[in-house]
Amino acid sequence: MIASRYDAFLFDLDGVLYRGHQPIHGAAETVATLRELGKSLSFVTNNSARTPEAVLDHLASVGIAAALGEIETSALTTAAALAQRGCGRALVLGEEGLRTALMDVGMELVDPGDVVRADVVVIGWDRTVTYETLRAASLAIQAGAEFVASNADASYPAPDGRNWPGAGAIVAAVETATGHRAEVFGKPFAPILLAARERAGGGRTLVIGDRVETDIEGARRLGWDSMLVLTGVSTVEDLRAAGISSTYVADDLGVLVAS
Ligand SMILES: [Mg+2]
Repeated sequence: MIASRYDAFLFDLDGVLYRGHQPIHGAAETVATLRELGKSLSFVTNNSARTPEAVLDHLASVGIAAALGEIETSALTTAAALAQRGCGRALVLGEEGLRTALMDVGMELVDPGDVVRADVVVIGWDRTVTYETLRAASLAIQAGAEFVASNADASYPAPDGRNWPGAGAIVAAVETATGHRAEVFGKPFAPILLAARERAGGGRTLVIGDRVETDIEGARRLGWDSMLVLTGVSTVEDLRAAGISSTYVADDLGVLVAS
């Protein structure tokens, strides 16, 4: 079986293990079988709006048991990197997951009216963004603050099947305004996948995802194997159009543990 070739399995969430609040057929069973086989797992999401606890609850609601230490979000990756650099004060355009992660590593969140005090501007998915907060971010960057983003997903696949503006749309607004480019920590960039792999204990690693431009491209950049599952956003045609290859393409997760 494919699973016997790997030690660490990095699972994307939406489109792989669930679709919104709907479980994806066979996902919970496959995860359970991997655990019986003694495999190490990590659950990786670019969504910076949710806390790891909220991710855990969502997984539980679709029948997947996980530990807090197995969850890697782009908010956690960003916070860990900034803490290591000694950034102290952040102007944040983001939701609870990002704010909590930054405060948990000891950072101070500055008010949009207090931009000169910011060491860094941190942008994530933010459904409360306004002209005022975009202006504050732009002014802080012009005053010398670092500019980082938890992720740069262009869109958020809404429960109704349509696309809402994602974190990348907000990042683009500030990039356009300032002429500065954000440093991004989420997929397809390496930091989030390296952090997830560390959570899973390392070894032979397989990235499993439904999005070519984040999950599959992220694995490719690191030289890791990947599996594109066709239960979410991307199709085989998308893979072909992107001009990259995935080690495996599967209709569902069951093939991982099929004999
Ligand atoms: Mg996904």
